[in-house]
Amino acid sequence: MELQQQDTTGVTQDPTTMNGESIKTPASTSVLQSALKHALQFLEGLATEPVRPTVSITDLRHSLTKPLPDHTTSADEILDQLITNTKGGIMGNAGGRFFAWAIGGTLPVALAADWLTSTWNQNAALSACSPAAAVTEEVCGIWLKELLGLPSTASFALVSGCQMAHTTCLAAARNSLLSRYGWDHELDGLGNAPRIRVLSSGEKHGSIDRSVRLLGMGIRCVVELEVRENGTLAPETLHQALEKYSNGPVIVVLQAGDLNIGAYDPFSELISLAHRWGAWVHIDGAFGLWAAASPTHRHLLAGAEQADSWATDGHKWLNVPYDSGYAFIAHSEAHRNSMSYRASYLTHQGDARDQIDWNPEWSRRARGFATYAALHHLGKAGIADLISRCCSYAQDLVVRIGGLNGAEMIWKSSVNQGLVRFIDQRADATLEDHDRWTDTVILAVAETGEAFFSGTTWRGQRCMRVSVLNWQTDENDVSRAVSAIERILERG
Ligand SMILES: *Cc1c(COP(=O)(O)O)cnc(C)c1O
Repeated sequence: MELQQQDTTGVTQDPTTMNGESIKTPASTSVLQSALKHALQFLEGLATEPVRPTVSITDLRHSLTKPLPDHTTSADEILDQLITNTKGGIMGNAGGRFFAWAIGGTLPVALAADWLTSTWNQNAALSACSPAAAVTEEVCGIWLKELLGLPSTASFALVSGCQMAHTTCLAAARNSLLSRYGWDHELDGLGNAPRIRVLSSGEKHGSIDRSVRLLGMGIRCVVELEVRENGTLAPETLHQALEKYSNGPVIVVLQAGDLNIGAYDPFSELISLAHRWGAWVHIDGAFGLWAAASPTHRHLLAGAEQADSWATDGHKWLNVPYDSGYAFIAHSEAHRNSMSYRASYLTHQGDARDQIDWNPEWSRRARGFATYAALHHLGKAGIADLISRCCSYAQDLVVRIGGLNGAEMIWKSSVNQGLVRFIDQRADATLEDHDRWTDTVILAVAETGEAFFSGTTWRGQRCMRVSVLNWQTDENDVSRAVSAIERILERG
């Protein structure tokens, strides 16, 4: 299709100069060309540019804040300004030297599919709005369940992230548990409904609490259970809690890879125990569920397939762009009952899967394309390799940093997370001094621009977290990070 030389801005466009030649390019394509050029330069720069942002919030406010214009400005000019005015404020987490929080990179094939997703601008609410988006998501569901070792009969939803995956799964749990008490939550809400309890390990992620709040169950329904030395929930602890709350509906939240030490709960034992008490078991596997895709790590998830729901992310370990989480639910009827909406103006086609029946959103991005492209590109072997590579780099980092003079290894996990700590070398240094020095070193590492880590308080002491989730991270990145820390410790 020929692009119309149409002026949509209402402002007359001058011919644009490219490669010294004067050519007449429609404004709508030249801005896309320059976005592509800038994107490629940005990606190339990741290996050499500092990982950390180099300008302050104040600087960014200064360059970005302006009065909302009265008149239209050309698209090219606006893109240039956007690039110039955000410069230095973009975190380098797309590259291989970023080890903070739990943030993945983006595979080129997934980025390309994401560009097309925006270009195609499909509304993936109904198959009638985009048949290709609907079928792509169907296939993603099938592939993901196979890869992650989940039951092929489970229903699923491609959501914005693990937070919304929890919300989707727990909404289904709420529907199912209350209906067993003769209560129709979808009609009557939570007022006067039996009180649901959420039993979870103290190592749960904060997104569980937020989902519980969003679902109207209130944070007081969450009962935090103490974990063992290895960060996992003991069957005996869960058993006591199940007994205590046996008079009402219960959701048990288990952890497949916690943020600090990558702990996996003993699923087989805990799930069969919870099921004996009639509880719904939900697994938070934001990144950790991906261990199932690696033959050398799969054992960590033994028994996880018996749970009632699972939440994970695509934008972390699968390395697809942001806006990608996955919810899986063993009881498709409860899932559908809690989400589905039918109205006369919506078109539902035969046996097609309408995402609106399974997702919390109405209009939504066709986020399945990027996931489809990533899975199709890597295949089972490529994904297994990505998972085990990240794990071994994380372990290398923990061991090599922990072995430096003035550092201590706190936790080396069997997956891609770990903890180290830095020791204040003064003879009379207190625990608080070590805490302070640990935070100082984390900041100093970021300052070098060579690598970027984040801190955490784990069992009462400050630690530096090591998290490897980027497909690009390689030995050179690991060595650069270790050397940067070594130089800081030598300087003292
Ligand atoms: C990141 C994370 C979440 C939240 O996921 P989002 O994709 O950010 O919504 C939940 N649980 C764990 C363990 C995580 O690491």
